[in-house]
Amino acid sequence: MVKSFNKNNLDEKKQFFIDTIAKFCDKCGNPYSRSDLEIIQDTNISSIIHFSCVNCKSNHIATFFKPIGISNRMPINTDLNVEEIGKFSSMKETSVEEILDLYLYLKEQEKVVL
Ligand SMILES: [Zn+2]
Repeated sequence: MVKSFNKNNLDEKKQFFIDTIAKFCDKCGNPYSRSDLEIIQDTNISSIIHFSCVNCKSNHIATFFKPIGISNRMPINTDLNVEEIGKFSSMKETSVEEILDLYLYLKEQEKVVL
């Protein structure tokens, strides 16, 4: 089920996510480079991308919802690694409803954090 990308394709996608979601680290403002991104899930509906900052070591998970063109980013703690997140998020196909649920959930979380 997990799509594999060739190298160029992957670089292009990463650049797209940098341009679309975040060019700089939320915490320290360090610019992200392609090697700081890990694409965890990429479907027709949504993408989940892991951003890690080389400078301050902070980690963010971004979700990008293609049909509505909205992205959301939240800090994560480092004890959940990229492989674990990948396993969790690739367990089944994500439906639009689930994405909306997730989106609303992330909105809530953001409010709580702020
Ligand atoms: Zn940083």
